[in-house]
Amino acid sequence: MDALDSILRRFGLPPRLDPRPDDASGFLVPFHIEGREICRSVKKTHECCFTFVEGVLMQAVAIQDEMDVIAIHAGMFWLLCRLAATAAESGVFPAFQGPFEARWMPTAELSVQTPRTLLGEGVPFDWKSETASWITHPERQMLFLVILSVLFRFVTYHEAGHLWYDHGRRRSGGKRASIFIDRTEPSEVGFPGAIASQAREIIADSFALERTIKVLERELSLKAELEMTKVLRAKLLADEKAITGFVLTMVFLYFRVSDRSNWHAVSLDTLSHPPAPFRAKAVAAALLEHRHLSISEEAAGSAVRSAAAGSEAILSVMLGIYPNLRWLDDISTSEFDKHFNKIYDEIPQWC
Ligand SMILES: [Zn+2]
Repeated sequence: MDALDSILRRFGLPPRLDPRPDDASGFLVPFHIEGREICRSVKKTHECCFTFVEGVLMQAVAIQDEMDVIAIHAGMFWLLCRLAATAAESGVFPAFQGPFEARWMPTAELSVQTPRTLLGEGVPFDWKSETASWITHPERQMLFLVILSVLFRFVTYHEAGHLWYDHGRRRSGGKRASIFIDRTEPSEVGFPGAIASQAREIIADSFALERTIKVLERELSLKAELEMTKVLRAKLLADEKAITGFVLTMVFLYFRVSDRSNWHAVSLDTLSHPPAPFRAKAVAAALLEHRHLSISEEAAGSAVRSAAAGSEAILSVMLGIYPNLRWLDDISTSEFDKHFNKIYDEIPQWC
């Protein structure tokens, strides 16, 4: 057993998942390679290792021990694949040619369930059967791939952000190994550690947003001559403004899907992670502040508005549900504003 296996065991994580080329999800190998590249890009003093692990939860983990580790649970990868496949199938982003036009036929029965339940959390993604209806349409495959890439990068760069800022070692004063478990839903950790914990999550989200935007822009530039790039440029990602708007929309979609809305009854000061709409609002604030790719103030504002409305519209059509128009409004209260300020006061400690 090598060092990685013993670290996973020590932290009670599932065993690593062998990235077999014939894996039913279809894309495990290329994303395993990309995960390793992301690890390489944040390596500083310690070796950094990327792995998928066999767990079925929508979860990702960063560990700082004798080496740094990013572990993505298979359940997270399956859910991201299904989210991308459902988008490709449903006809959203109608500029991409496909077999179906988008049709919105919401039902109350579906609308009362959480998106992650509707997306079959825990059920392995099967590339062959789950793409059958649109597989013969190349533009829909391109859409699938760009959505999956953005979602995967955001999740993996979030964990990489914890490593980049040395959150684990700094939290423990460098004395002992440390783990971040990102269950994508908050758990209770108690005050005052919770504010620091939430500040670290906001920092990791902001890092992930920046890297995901920049990597997509660089990828499009490097691959400018490829047919797929030309299609994506023409139909979705024409310029810096469109790239930032698309990435932010996908990030909002990710937070919306990850939210179980089970945090309402719990005190904000005791949660390990900020509630999902709060994280969405914080990444939007980060975009307005940093204006990645040097976009204008107006472009950043329009990206935020289109991400908020667009992600909700996409999800409603994809899943056949009524939009949750209060998702972001629920956290627009003075209590949340005060909480936001507490976290922002803490952020310099962890950057
Ligand atoms: Zn985290």
